[in-house]
This record gives sequence, structure tokens and C-alpha cells, in this order.
Amino acid sequence: MTRIIKLRGKIIEFKKMGDFIMFTNVEKGNQGLCKYCGKKLAPKEMLAHLVKCEKRDEKIYAAKKEMEGFFDILITSKEMEDYWMIIEVNEKTMLKEIDTFLREIWLGNEQCLSIFKIKNLKYKYISGGNLLYVEPEQSMYHTLKNILSVGETFDYTYGENKITEIKLMVFSHRIGRRHEEEDIVLLSRNIPPERICYKCKKNNASWVDTIIYSFDDDAFLCDECKEKVESNKLFIQMEYTENMLPIYNSPRMGIGDYEGSDFYTDEFKPDFENKERQKNKPKKVEKKTLKKFKNNQYDVYPIMKEWESEYTVSEKVESKRELPTKEAWMELYEVAERIKKFKAWEYVYEFQIISLKVKGEETIFYSILGEDEKEYGVDVYEGYDDFKTFIVNDYSEALDLPKGYVKSLKSNLACRWGNVEDLSKDQRDTIKELGFKYKGKGKWLYFTSFEKGYSPYSLDRDEVAHMTKHLKNLEIILEKFEDNIRESINMDFDELMCVEYIKDNNEWKFYIEKIPLEEYSLSNEKIKDKNKLNRLKEAPKVESVLDVDIIPLKRTINDEKYIKPITPFIYGIVDAKSGDLISSKIAEPGADVGDLLVEEIERFIDEVGRPRIIRTANELINSKLSLICENLDINLSLKKSSRVGKKFGEYMVYKKEIGNTPLN
Ligand SMILES: [Zn+2]
Ligand SMILES: [Zn+2]
Repeated sequence: MTRIIKLRGKIIEFKKMGDFIMFTNVEKGNQGLCKYCGKKLAPKEMLAHLVKCEKRDEKIYAAKKEMEGFFDILITSKEMEDYWMIIEVNEKTMLKEIDTFLREIWLGNEQCLSIFKIKNLKYKYISGGNLLYVEPEQSMYHTLKNILSVGETFDYTYGENKITEIKLMVFSHRIGRRHEEEDIVLLSRNIPPERICYKCKKNNASWVDTIIYSFDDDAFLCDECKEKVESNKLFIQMEYTENMLPIYNSPRMGIGDYEGSDFYTDEFKPDFENKERQKNKPKKVEKKTLKKFKNNQYDVYPIMKEWESEYTVSEKVESKRELPTKEAWMELYEVAERIKKFKAWEYVYEFQIISLKVKGEETIFYSILGEDEKEYGVDVYEGYDDFKTFIVNDYSEALDLPKGYVKSLKSNLACRWGNVEDLSKDQRDTIKELGFKYKGKGKWLYFTSFEKGYSPYSLDRDEVAHMTKHLKNLEIILEKFEDNIRESINMDFDELMCVEYIKDNNEWKFYIEKIPLEEYSLSNEKIKDKNKLNRLKEAPKVESVLDVDIIPLKRTINDEKYIKPITPFIYGIVDAKSGDLISSKIAEPGADVGDLLVEEIERFIDEVGRPRIIRTANELINSKLSLICENLDINLSLKKSSRVGKKFGEYMVYKKEIGNTPLN
């Protein structure tokens, strides 16, 4: 089955050519170029050539002298053998890293399942960043050395609804010096197949009609014909471009949301051709530079592990809080019950905001709930910063923002009339202490404080005092201006009702004004410090592609360091090429996690260089970074899904199950 030879100081075991029958059409396949000498060959010949390519032998990675083991692996699409690659992989690499490589070069970055099937075992990767992720069969954290051998053929599938199937074959194993710094090296790849336009049958196509493609391979269009098709369709339906996707050199082309690779160009060029254009090319980042960047931070795992074990509020947390007196609570409950009598929800919607301006004080914003007969209450936002969280929440659907993220940003004091099961034990105890007896649905009055980074919690002494003041003012507003509010029912979406109190002559005014939307403009982040901006601008351009994201932890954590339970944000950076989580940090409650993420990106620029591309799946982060990236000449790209959360979950599982060696 296999042969072993000794060639120029390396020991090579490889598969005999006769055994290619298992890999049927490989011989006829589309040609590709050799990374080292540029020779143009079909995959079968390429495999044989690579074993003895002299130019490959000459290339030595000087920094590592010891002998190591490497596999040459042929990868082909099962359905379309025109698409193939040959990679060299260090035998100590984990299977997961091949998965990362395949996702990055061929498959896209969707949140979906991928499976290697080797012998009769399935090695699965389940994405989603779920901390409770359970491995149904095997994880992908196995080193290749232990599971692969020369001649082995195995399968890989990617996707859940639209599956892409891939075949892999271990062609050879060599023991020798390292050619490159990377553990996975692309040695050769098919030349992009030429597609002829199905309409004019003469031009080269650059588009695929995904609807036709789902049942017919003849679905490619040239620019001209695409334009014609679209202008005809324009009269029939508005969303005419939705089914046109660019052609990429990948078996995933035209399927799902596949957007091509940010890292690998469709056309594979041999090294010497790349070198000619090296001058303007971004610098390659050495592994040790990335490692250093990664190590210049604390490890979040021990903190997370400690948090995992604490589910109950410790007394220490509770004792730090200044609790309201019974009298203070009573006053708040009384004013809230008076507010209820106005039944303001019968004439005002929750998105119709009433603001209260008093000179020298923070503007207060009120939203009255109950018009939809689902939830009755009043939300109070203190100041513009808190009100911004209402705006973001209100726009979240239009902006397609992740719901969990927006919800955990919310910052306000809430008063509700709910059902007994909506209340926390704390909130029920308060009611008992005050001697109220509520019965039935929508009768239980309770108050909650929402604060960024903290879990929703009952009010402390200060918050009760604030809320009492705000509700007393709302009572005055409803008394004085009920008619004005009723008349404002038809105000525009970008307007709010403004009540102004002028202390000097004890005068109250009511008017409609525009919500100062520019104050809430999402893309206002700039690097204001000129010196810093210049320093960052001068950083070398590197070829890194970074995925960045902010993830709310979705869990209530009791840590006695904080005054009440927290729901922290994690923010992090993934290096796209290696799939490595190079930064993950926990934001302190109340901190602006967007600012923290920007700081971390700046640290990357200082320590590593200006990345070529930054990718995110969150519109808010995208807006926040847009000016900065423009100034620093970094390509910013909004993606459909983010891998930071997945990688973070993966890292936690990895630490728990595998040990202390960092991932990758
Ligand atoms: Zn060669
Ligand atoms: Zn055409």
C-alpha cells in the first residue's frame, strides 16, 4: 500500500499511485500550481511532484532546527472534484485546526456543525459558544499523529441544512525540517474553473444565480447578462439582487450566505510570483508575536471557573448594599399606586417618550407601558446615556442587532404591576414587610434596577429615593398635562413630549421636540488623541484578519467583589487565519465595553500592527469602529455571524477538559 524512501535527509512514506482508484476522478481533475516551483499539474501528479520538488526542499524555516513529522493531505470536494487543495500539516496539529482552515478558505464562517469521519469515528465541532456544550462522540481536539496514517481516506461534512461534503486523503508522511512557520501550509490549489455565462454562452461568468444553481449546474452569468436580467426583473420584484452571488473558487460558492474568504485569494500563486509584489504587501505576522500579544493579558478561565461554583447571593454581597428604609419604600409604593390611577397607558404608547427638563439637573425620560395590555408600568431613564439604551433597544430590529446584546445594555429604573411569579424573593419580601396583600394577575407592584453589566436587581437606598422623586414629578406632569399628552398621540416617531420646569418662577411648560438623534449617532467614535492617532497610523500594516465581538454572558454571577449580582460582558479578538482566540477579557460592570474593545484593538496595533481586515457581526461595533478603521486604513467588514463567542466557549471547554496548555 505504501512505500518508504529516504530522500535528501528526510524519510518519506507515501501512498503508491496504483491505489488512486479510491479517489476516482482526481487524475482528470483541474490543474493547479506548485507553491514552490510553480509547476502546473493535476492533483495526482502534484502529490507525487511535491514529494520530490527540489524548490520545496530548499525552503527551510531557519528558526526551528529539529526534525518533525508532516503529512501531505489532498482535499477535494465530493460533488465537484474541480475544487481541490493539497496541504502540508504538522503531525502535532489538532484536527480542529484543519476544520478552522477549511472554514476559512472554503466554507465561510457560519454557526454550524462540522464533522470529520475517520475510520468509524465521528469527530464533531458544534459551534455556538455554549458553555454547557457536550461532546456527543469525539471532539476535534485530537492530534493528527494519533488518528491519521498514510493512505487513510476520510470524510468531512460542513453545514446543517445545506451540506458541503469533502474528501481527504493522507498521501504522504515525512520526517524532516520544517519548511514554513505555519503548521498548516497550502501547497497547491486548483486554478479557478472557468465558467461560461449560460445566457450569452460566450463571456466568462462572474456571478451565480443561486436559485437556478440549487437545481441546475448551468447557473452562471457574466456582468452584462446579470445587468440585463436584473433590469428586467426590476419591474416584477424589488429584491432582485438577492439570488445573485459572486463566483468564488470554492465548492461552497452559490450556497447559503457564503461570502468568499477574507484571507486566501481565489487564485493561488506560487511564492516567487507573490514575492514580486511583496513590497506593498502587508507584513506577515510571526506566531511568536501573536503569542506574545496573547500572553500580555490575564487568563479569564480561573475567574470563570470560580464564578461557576457560586450560584447563591453571598451575605457579603448583600451587606455592602445600603438598603432602603421601610418608610422610603412606603413612600415609593404610595406614589406608584397614585400614578396607576391615571391609567396613562390608555392614551400614550410606550415609545412615546415624556422627558422632564429642569435647569441644572439631568433630563429624565419616561416611557409608560401598558397600551398593549401585556405589561403595565413605567420605565425611567436618568440622563441621555441611559436614554440611549432605550433608543438602541427601539432600533434593534431595524438594525438587526443581537437581541441578547441589546437587552443587556439596558440601563433604567423600572416600576411594574405584574404577576407573583415575575417577582424575585427580595421583591416579594419587601411587599410582605410593607404589609401589602396583592391578589391576582397584574396586581403585584415591584421595582427593578437595570444597570449595564449587572443583573436586574431590586433597588437600593439611593435608587428608591431617585425613583420616588421621578414618579412624584411624573404625577405632576400627568395632572397638569394629561390633555396635552392626549393631543400628542399623532406626533412623529422622531419626536418626544418635553416638559420643562423653570424653578425661578415656578413655571411648567409643555412642548413637542425632536429627539436629538445626532446625539445618539452610532458612529461617532474617533481617536481624539492626535499623538495616539499618529502612532497607530505609523504602525506597520500586517496581513492579519481579526474577528472582534462583545458577548453578554447570559448568566447571573455572584461575586463578592461587587455590590450586587453581575451579568458581565466578554469582549475578544480571534485571529482569523489560525482561528486562535488571541484576546478575551471581562468588562467591569458599568464600563463601556465598546470602548474597552477599541482599546484592545489599539493594543493589537501597537504590539502587532495594523490588521488588514477587522470583521464583526454586530452593527453597533461596526459603527463604532467605522471612523477609526477609515482613519487607519483598515478594511472593516460586517459579517452574518461572529466566531468570537464560539471560540470563547470552545476555550472554556478546552481548559476544563484538556488542561492548561493554551488552545493552538
Ligand atoms: Zn514544485
Ligand atoms: Zn453573458
